[in-house]
Amino acid sequence: MIEKYIPPDWAFDFHGHRCPFMPIGYRMGKLAMEFLGVEREKDHGFFVFPEIGEGHPQTCMVDGMQASTGATYGKVLIEKTHYGKLAATFYHPKKGAVRYSLKPNFIDSFGKFKFFMFRKKGVEPSEIPQKAADKVINWVYEQTDDFMFKVEPLKEFNFLPVKGSFNKEKCSICGEYVFERYLRMKDGKPVCIPCSGYKKL
Ligand SMILES: [Zn+2]
Ligand SMILES: [Zn+2]
Repeated sequence: MIEKYIPPDWAFDFHGHRCPFMPIGYRMGKLAMEFLGVEREKDHGFFVFPEIGEGHPQTCMVDGMQASTGATYGKVLIEKTHYGKLAATFYHPKKGAVRYSLKPNFIDSFGKFKFFMFRKKGVEPSEIPQKAADKVINWVYEQTDDFMFKVEPLKEFNFLPVKGSFNKEKCSICGEYVFERYLRMKDGKPVCIPCSGYKKL
């Protein structure tokens, strides 16, 4: 296993426990960056669209993708599609897009580890014996990229991020500042969404 695909300790600290999915997402991000020829994102120029949904345990992959690529939720560079698939598209406006997905054969072999018996019984990853967690994590480190990932360059992929703006106004009801794209009008006055009475955006 190549060292650079193994997450640094800070990534495990950030994630909170030792599971095999965060490292898989980390490696996916690293490989996609190499494929596209991009560096870890410092600012706002690289986007990740994980196809992960919710209510399935593999969502931890998304933390690994954030750690390796620098495309984080806080910088609005990552957005889940909620397809419920173990895949993600990585996009750089100047370099193009590539989709990485986990191959079914890999997922099947992976699922046989004891770690998942604990998970299926509802044991949280931090409560699973370290030995069982390390066994599956180390096994993943030893697998080849080709066994794990399907790689698809996406020629037609396009995405326009929301344009940033510093414009804001005070809500006429609660007096708090609201950025302009979230302002609503009520009785001819600007209001925030909670004060507007709208249930949804
Ligand atoms: Zn995890
Ligand atoms: Zn308000």
